[in-house]
Amino acid sequence: MKTDDVWLLGRAWSTPGGFVRGARLVFRALGGVVRGQRLVGIGVALATSFCKAVVLGQQVPLWLNSPLEDLVVDGDRVVGVRIRRDGRTVTIRAERGVMLAGGGFEHNRDWRQKHHGIDGSPSGNPGNVGGPIEIAQRAGAAVELMDEAWWGASVAAPAGGTPAFIVGERSMPYSLMTDAAGNRFANESESYVDLGHHMLEHDRDGAYWLIADARHARRYLRTFALDPRQNKAMREAGIMVKARSVAELAGRLGMEPARLRATVERFNGFARAGVDGDFGRGNSAYDRYYGDPTVRPNPNLGPLERGPFTAFKVVIGDLGTKGGVVTDADGRALREDGSVIEGLYSAGNNSASVMGRTYPGPGSTIGPATVFGLRAARHMARA
Ligand SMILES: Cc1cc2nc3c(=O)[nH]c(=O)nc-3n(C[C@H](O)[C@H](O)[C@H](O)COP(=O)(O)OP(=O)(O)OC[C@H]3O[C@@H](n4cnc5c(N)ncnc54)[C@H](O)[C@@H]3O)c2cc1C
Repeated sequence: MKTDDVWLLGRAWSTPGGFVRGARLVFRALGGVVRGQRLVGIGVALATSFCKAVVLGQQVPLWLNSPLEDLVVDGDRVVGVRIRRDGRTVTIRAERGVMLAGGGFEHNRDWRQKHHGIDGSPSGNPGNVGGPIEIAQRAGAAVELMDEAWWGASVAAPAGGTPAFIVGERSMPYSLMTDAAGNRFANESESYVDLGHHMLEHDRDGAYWLIADARHARRYLRTFALDPRQNKAMREAGIMVKARSVAELAGRLGMEPARLRATVERFNGFARAGVDGDFGRGNSAYDRYYGDPTVRPNPNLGPLERGPFTAFKVVIGDLGTKGGVVTDADGRALREDGSVIEGLYSAGNNSASVMGRTYPGPGSTIGPATVFGLRAARHMARA
């Protein structure tokens, strides 16, 4: 799957463009099977092409399972690293500089509680526990934005699973999101960081629900509900709840039926008028990107009126954290007083995000990681 497939595949059953894109994906995948190729897509494809350029192209050794333990510092300058390899500590000199690219701290429960006040429901790499950030701090680096993350909404995971970060699913028509009491609280189609902020502000510890009618299930791709075994586990864990009517669904979710009915009726009125009078869903180009253009007058709004109705339990998720080492335009680590730590560079989620607390658009994490990684490498080459 290519990144540009994602938005169209979400409506493979509702628009001709989505269907054609879906068919091309299926044929591409089958073509790979026939040719005996293992095709990879989206983020894995990006990482694979980097590996090809660096490992095969430049013959740079790639050591896996070799975590950074500490930096080697000589006076004021970082001159190497100590890593753990095959049960031993290995020291590597780095004349030009050391680049930290060890991700955020989304899987560090203690740091999450300390900086975010919640355990978090991360979707990022399980190895991201903030080690490189701590190591940079020991070498004198300043950190910022530690209370931030690439927040978003995720469908809760059954025991042992990973929460499913949702974007298109909550933006498509015939669905809405409520808090634990059955009230809408935000524009469901807004950017994931904005929605995450609204969830944190509204109720940091409470449950949320994505509620959809039968047309949402039939027309749109729900990436988190494709596997029948997973669906069974979600039903058993109370994460996926079905009912024939809105009132029955409310009862199953522990909500006041009149409350949820009122929420749905108000929302349905907005959907028919094409204007979300409470939260402006469908007003922005961003909202409409993940909408269904065949639904009029507003591609993000469709009334919930056809059962069965399904609710999915939603938690405050994230794609990773935003806080970390403060850097300059060349990715050089800075101290609290703004001076440069010579020889130490940082890019990606172990740096404080250049985007601050916002989400300007797709690629807001990988874009800066790549740009500052390149700028840092060029700076090292010049040094
Ligand atoms: C489901 C999902 C979808 C996403 N979609 C997009 C998107 O469309 N566009 C976009 O821009 N971003 C997207 N992101 C976010 C993006 O993938 C991350 O922000 C990005 O991968 C961060 O890159 P990174 O190099 O900083 O860290 P990571 O890619 O997380 O890699 C960090 C690595 O460092 C390793 N590590 C940790 N500690 C140490 C240590 N002490 N020593 C050695 N190694 C260590 C970790 O194990 C990990 O392998 C998505 C993320 C997820 C989860």
